[in-house]
Amino acid sequence: MLKINEIFYSIQGETTYVGHPTVFVRTTACNLRCTYCDTKYSYYEGDFKSLDVILQEIESHKTCYVCITGGEPLLQKEVYTLMNVLCERGYNVSLETSGSKSIELVHPKVKTILDVKTPDSGAADSFLLENLSLANSLTEYKFVICSEKDFEWSEEFCRQHDLFKNFTVLYSPSFAQVTERWLAEKILQQNSTARLQLQLHKYIWSSEARGV
Ligand code: SF4
Repeated sequence: MLKINEIFYSIQGETTYVGHPTVFVRTTACNLRCTYCDTKYSYYEGDFKSLDVILQEIESHKTCYVCITGGEPLLQKEVYTLMNVLCERGYNVSLETSGSKSIELVHPKVKTILDVKTPDSGAADSFLLENLSLANSLTEYKFVICSEKDFEWSEEFCRQHDLFKNFTVLYSPSFAQVTERWLAEKILQQNSTARLQLQLHKYIWSSEARGV
């Protein structure tokens, strides 16, 4: 059984799978409390569901993309079984994790997104450094940038661990703290090789509010 906050079908707004219709499985519980967290409702709310029920819900949607997110998915052991079964059934599986728990047991076909927490997230130093050596060619590193300090810190982290050369590195602006333009200019000015990542889903689902 896994405690699940929600299962929903939407457009993937992040990572190199951006734009794909995707089933999202959001697990309950998180060991961190990031300042900008927009999924606080996942900390406690949810229902226990069997693997069969979860798989049935996933299969009811006609897509081969599944994103396991949270909360922190790796807090529940049965999530590994879920990912293994999905990989065996041919799904493109992505996992969003803070990297504060070991990714050692994650199936090698899973695209793991390591969301390294920056100083202004309030959860810096939560990243488990042993995960650097457990990453594979599918792994992507994500940094949510809240400030100039965060930008500099992320650049240094990537240089120190040789991430730019070997992995996709994604920089996302913290939605209410810095603008997309500020981060774009910063990347260009500093000759960073990070990829600017906008959270596409926030633009899609706020288009009505913009009167478009
Ligand atoms: S790791 Fe994710 S779910 Fe947990 S507090 Fe941070 S932003 Fe929220």
